[in-house]
Amino acid sequence: MPTHLEVLVVGAGIAGLAAATELHHRGMSVDVIERSSHPRATGAGLFLTGNSVRALNALGLRDHLATSGAPLPSQRLQSHRGRVLADISTADLWRGTADCVGTTRAALHAALHDIVPVPVRHGVTLQSLKESGDGVDVEFIDGKTGRYNVVVGADGIRSSLREYVDPAAATRYLGQVCWRFLTDDASGIDRWTVWLGRGTAFAAYPVGRGQACCYADVSAASPQDPTDGTAQLSPFFSGFDPRVQDLLATPAARAAYASPVEEVSCGTWTSGHVMLVGDAAHASSPNMGQGVAMAVEDAQVLADTLTAEGHIPDLLQQYVQRRLPRTRWVQRQTRQRDRTRSLPPAVRNFVLRHGAQRLYERATAPLRELP
Ligand SMILES: Cc1cc2nc3c(=O)[nH]c(=O)nc-3n(C[C@H](O)[C@H](O)[C@H](O)COP(=O)(O)OP(=O)(O)OC[C@H]3O[C@@H](n4cnc5c(N)ncnc54)[C@H](O)[C@@H]3O)c2cc1C
Repeated sequence: MPTHLEVLVVGAGIAGLAAATELHHRGMSVDVIERSSHPRATGAGLFLTGNSVRALNALGLRDHLATSGAPLPSQRLQSHRGRVLADISTADLWRGTADCVGTTRAALHAALHDIVPVPVRHGVTLQSLKESGDGVDVEFIDGKTGRYNVVVGADGIRSSLREYVDPAAATRYLGQVCWRFLTDDASGIDRWTVWLGRGTAFAAYPVGRGQACCYADVSAASPQDPTDGTAQLSPFFSGFDPRVQDLLATPAARAAYASPVEEVSCGTWTSGHVMLVGDAAHASSPNMGQGVAMAVEDAQVLADTLTAEGHIPDLLQQYVQRRLPRTRWVQRQTRQRDRTRSLPPAVRNFVLRHGAQRLYERATAPLRELP
């Protein structure tokens, strides 16, 4: 095993920036390439659960999270008309980890770009990749070349490195299409709140600076946008609480973009000296807000694993063995949450009124442990 590892990180999203930071801190030489031509500042909000905040704090974002974003002390589950079904205390749920925070994607990306200790080469992708001996030779789209001990695929749910690592892996449509947007009118939204209808859900939570992030989804047989790009969501949410109707009538809602809710199941996350982190390996439904936690924990476990002595492909297998059970747990819990949500509304509301606290406790308990 080489004493000084050269690592290429493909993708400067949350997983890639976290991995580059962790690996550099452990003394490795890290190059980062990112397909988009500039740091991405788009997208809506992120619900950062206790284990996300713990992982981001360890990465060096403690001050950032303490001063930006909004504390999320509870999660309120409601019927579509606004009848409270359960108030889950997030402080109890995540005891021993960290307090939950709502933030914008733009703020988190900017903070990660601020701390990443290596330059990101924007507008660059891989042209080719070939493993030989104890490394990987790569050609970049800009004509440059490089040789690395490890190539980390942090290239998101549509990962092209996944095709190299596990050609049989595929994204799976989970039966919902979703929209999200930021609004400047966060009045009355002082916690993570969801209104649950029949095959429809609308959630909102504060993200700081007077803004709230709104998220809407509808069950749909096909992953195509059922509004044909118009984001005319009101007909799906008629009869909902007037506050939902207000939010859906804002210009921001009408500019919301649709995407199918999908997950990724890979048979393996590693092939030789090439491996996957974050959504590329294990994207899941956002209904538990675990995407950031899993991505940043991947980065920390990868850095731990590569710091040990051993043959690199074996070390990467150890990384997978350490991460697989936890990410599979999250995917199973998100599917369970969808099944509960899809019960007939009267049954679902009964279940949540009487058992939400227990269901949330059970889903969260293993995630309070360190990864
Ligand atoms: C609707 C929705 C809501 C969500 N809400 C939450 C939430 O509230 N809380 C939470 O924790 N998680 C949430 N998630 C999940 C979270 O967004 C993801 O888990 C997280 O962004 C994964 O980060 P990543 O770095 O793996 O992927 P990405 O953020 O997708 O980053 C991948 C990066 O790789 C780049 N890239 C792609 N291909 C290439 C290439 N060939 N070469 C170079 N660069 C490339 C992309 O441009 C991008 O910058 C949500 C997801 C969705 C879809």
